[in-house]
Amino acid sequence: MQKGQIRVQTENIFPIIKKFLYSDHEIFLRELISNAVDATQKLKTLASIGEAKGELGDLRIDVELDAKEKTLSITDHGVGMTKEEVDKYLNQVAFSGAEEFLSKYKDANIIGHFGLGFYSAFMVSSRVEVLTQSYHEEAPSVYWSCDGSPEFELYEIEKRSRGTKIILHINEDSQEFLEANRIKGILEKFCRFLPVPIYFTEAGE
Ligand code: ADP
Ligand code: MG
Repeated sequence: MQKGQIRVQTENIFPIIKKFLYSDHEIFLRELISNAVDATQKLKTLASIGEAKGELGDLRIDVELDAKEKTLSITDHGVGMTKEEVDKYLNQVAFSGAEEFLSKYKDANIIGHFGLGFYSAFMVSSRVEVLTQSYHEEAPSVYWSCDGSPEFELYEIEKRSRGTKIILHINEDSQEFLEANRIKGILEKFCRFLPVPIYFTEAGE
């Protein structure tokens, strides 16, 4: 088990993200789905050049809502991440300065271009959990969890199938995202022409 601090160059980025994207919270879903699509497309590319071996299986992306548990999860069967990759991509927020960012880029859509896409999950979540297995089969599956403070947890878990599951614990202010119609609306808006099929399900249905 590894415990540590998310490395942000200047200051804690989370309050900034929350403030900055206040009016456009729903983009979190688009960001997480684009990551899932990217991971899936990367896997297809690696398979086509013989780098990823074996059956690829069904490469669908699942969005699951559990209103009772107050969670929304996004699952893909893409390249996944090793422990080192989680540490590199999720724990290191390379950022030249939050204030500079705020003053320069007023358009919320730009945030995806700064590698902050994943962190938009914290706009709507009191905790984000990631369970992932890299396409490198020998790499152990890993668990990462963070409550929006710079502290995170990262450790190896029992072997999972290839890909990544992101579990969002929807926060008090964002209960609208526990409504099926709200999620379906966002999916229709953002996810209509993606190269990977997206399925939406509700727990208990
Ligand atoms: P960007 O997509 O612009 O690179 P993000 O903040 O959205 O920035 O994601 C950071 C990185 O985390 C990605 O580049 C990728 O390496 C990794 N990542 C995020 N989500 C996934 C996922 N579902 N599967 C595999 N890797 C992921
Ligand atoms: Mg992204």
